[in-house]
Formats: sequence, structure tokens, C-alpha cells
Amino acid sequence: MKKIIGAMIIISMVISGCSGKKEKKDTLSWEPTVTLTEQVALDDTLTLKQIEHGVIVVEHQYPWPSNSLLVELENKSILWIDTPCTPDATQLVLNWIEQNYGKDREIIEVNTGYHFDNLGGNKVLAEKGISIYASDITGDCIQQRGEEARKQFLDMLQDDAHKTYYDTYAELSYVEPCAYVDMELGQEKSMYIKDGVEIYYPGESHSPDNIVVYIEDRKVLFGGCMIKSLTSKNLGNVKDANMTEWPKSIEKMMMKYTEEQVKHVIPGHGEAGTYALLGATLALFDTAD
Ligand SMILES: [Zn+2]
Repeated sequence: MKKIIGAMIIISMVISGCSGKKEKKDTLSWEPTVTLTEQVALDDTLTLKQIEHGVIVVEHQYPWPSNSLLVELENKSILWIDTPCTPDATQLVLNWIEQNYGKDREIIEVNTGYHFDNLGGNKVLAEKGISIYASDITGDCIQQRGEEARKQFLDMLQDDAHKTYYDTYAELSYVEPCAYVDMELGQEKSMYIKDGVEIYYPGESHSPDNIVVYIEDRKVLFGGCMIKSLTSKNLGNVKDANMTEWPKSIEKMMMKYTEEQVKHVIPGHGEAGTYALLGATLALFDTAD
């Protein structure tokens, strides 16, 4: 009888040991405030979709779908990476945040580049006094290349069907980030801006200044415009890209963040996915000219 009880204890220890481990891997030690069981549309162009409890992709189609990301942090702050393309859309998301999380939450914004799909909504955030982090290379790019980037963007919107978008982007002003992180063009660098929130600049890529954001406890990597979705057939708009350095930058990123450390990768445009997006983006260089 003693033997049997002993065996039962060992078995139950093994079982609870396994499930204990699994729990640790799959659940957080704290509870995110908002759960989205289905996609939420704030208007015809703007949707919110949860990819992990407390991790919400904001897609703004204006006219092309672009992603920003909301992540509730353990200290209850809301990390917002990039913005919708316009102040109006950004205001709608801000209203939604206030309705769902309350008005007192600290919001921290990170701009991952200087294009309008990264920071077009800054005006609204700056007026709210929200801290907007970015690499200081992004500040230089706004100053030196901002108007040229606008021109290139407007060139893609010449069609009459795009008139509304053309008019918006022709008028949209660049509002600079307020919390610049010291970086040097082409020099790999990473830095924590909050507990467990790291920004990483691997070097030039889709634009000279693109950074990525890694959220440790959620294993989330916001790749932004440097990373393409799995359905992308090409590298998209490469007018501002450094085509030699871009693949090297992705390789550096893969050295820094292993597949083990990354559960979700969010590209600048299109569906979020897994670590496979990094390799798939690299593969697109084989087919590029
Ligand atoms: Zn982009």
C-alpha cells in the first residue's frame, strides 16, 4: 500500500509539474484589463484586433492598410507603437483607449520611423502631452527628407480615386517626437525605454531610421515597415530604402532576437504572424532587382 501511495504521489507531482510549467509559459502573472474577443471597427478604415491578451493591432486603411500596436504593460501603462496615418484616426483610437482603460492611464508612444504611416497621428498625442519616443535619426529624417518623402507619397496618390487621401497628406504636418533616443546612422544600438520594453536599431533598412520594438514578457516584436507580411510579393515602397543594408539589418535582428524569444511579429502592413516573417522578408531580396 505504501508503495502504491508513493507511486501516486510521484505521478501527481509529475502531472502538476508539467501543467505548472505550461501555465507559466502561456499565462501572465497579471491580468490585462481589456479582452477583445472579436475585431472592433472604429470607422470604415480603422480596426482593432487582439492577437494576444492585452496586445492589440490597430489597422488604418488610408488608403493602404498600415499597422500600429497597443500593448498594456504590467505597470498598467499603455504602450502605443506607431500611430494611424492621420490625427483624426489617432483621436478615435485615443477615445477608445480612454473609454476602455480609463482616462488616467499613462500612454507611451514610440515612432519607428519618419513616414506618415509611423507618425501621422503625432499631433493628437503631442497635444495630449503624451511622451513620444523615437530615434534621433528619425528627427533628422523629418528635417532633411520629410518633404521629399511627402512628394513621393503624393506621387502614388495621383489617381482621382485617391483625391481625399492626396488632399489629407498634402496638408498633414510633421509633428516631431519629444523624447529622442541618441543613435547614429547605420550603427546598431538598442535601449530600454521602460521595464521590459526595448527599442532596437539594427542599421538602415526600409528607411534610414526604422527601429523595431521588443516587449519581453509578451514575446512581441513590432517589426514595422522593415518587416513584410507573409502575403507580400515584394518589398513595397523602396524609394527611401538602403537595399544593401536592409537584409543585413534583418540578419542582425535575427541574431539579437531568437525564435524562442519571439511569439508574435507585427509588420508595418498586413497580417501579424510569427518569427517566420523575418525569414520571409529576407527571401524577398532574392527576387528583388
Ligand atoms: Zn510603411
